[in-house]
Amino acid sequence: MKDYSQKVKELFDSQLADWSQARDNYRQLDNVKVREISFAGYSIAVQFNPGRITSSAAKVDARSIEARPCFLCGNNRPAEQKGVPFSDDFVILINPFPIFRRHLTIVSGSHIPQRIAGRFGTMLSLARALPEYVIFYNGPQCGASAPDHLHFQAGNRGFLPVEKDFSNPLLCSKALTARSTEAWLWRGYGRGMVTLKGTDDTEIAGLFDRFYAGFARSQPDRPEPMLNILAYITGHEWVVHIIPRSVHRPACYFAEGDAKILLSPASVDLGGVFITPREEDFNKITQADISDILTEVCLSEEEVKKLTSQSI
Ligand SMILES: [Zn+2]
Repeated sequence: MKDYSQKVKELFDSQLADWSQARDNYRQLDNVKVREISFAGYSIAVQFNPGRITSSAAKVDARSIEARPCFLCGNNRPAEQKGVPFSDDFVILINPFPIFRRHLTIVSGSHIPQRIAGRFGTMLSLARALPEYVIFYNGPQCGASAPDHLHFQAGNRGFLPVEKDFSNPLLCSKALTARSTEAWLWRGYGRGMVTLKGTDDTEIAGLFDRFYAGFARSQPDRPEPMLNILAYITGHEWVVHIIPRSVHRPACYFAEGDAKILLSPASVDLGGVFITPREEDFNKITQADISDILTEVCLSEEEVKKLTSQSI
């Protein structure tokens, strides 16, 4: 797999030169407000980003999805949007509603449902092809605003706190080694996660498949077990953070009046940057709110530990 860094850099340069909406939205990132909320041993950033309202508030029930033109299908994308082909059936696009300074959407050429089964290897390939990026996957009921069209996203490294938190031995430790791949579990991090780390993509994918199968048995009525996944390369190793989910959106998302916090957690939020498209939510969200949201939408650390020991 060759390195796509230069091609993607050129894509960014040309798109920001030629596509005014994207250029404006990336410039708006200069005005994005950020708060840092401290927890014991780590922190969560909160980003006020009004450009994300469409995604956060997206109606993703089957009827709403069927009623709208799919914004990831080639025929419906903006005429200005160009892409770089990746493998046989994906195209790398710049995301016109950025959270990151460099934010990509990697879209399947076919209008097929968002599913990770059989596609995890593509995610690892993307991580290797784009070493300056974190590749992330939001399941169809875990923050994807196009659950009907297979896609990944990517954002520049060094932005999500989970990257540096992974090197903190107080927050995570190696739970087991299977051949050359390690599985790490988190503790005191407010959300249950398991992290796979290794140099052999086939082996990592094998462990992921086992975890997925074990988790699928506990969520038999879902289109797939609820997951967010973040993957990147450090040195010669893949690091893959798997965040199993129990709920799509927290109760505060549906609340009325002052109790409402419009926040639809996905990979970026669970990686440590909470996105609030409404300024009132940005101003009022507290440490306790964040803890409650994480507890509500994620599995507990004990549950993930049990799932890992039973499945991997
Ligand atoms: Zn589509």
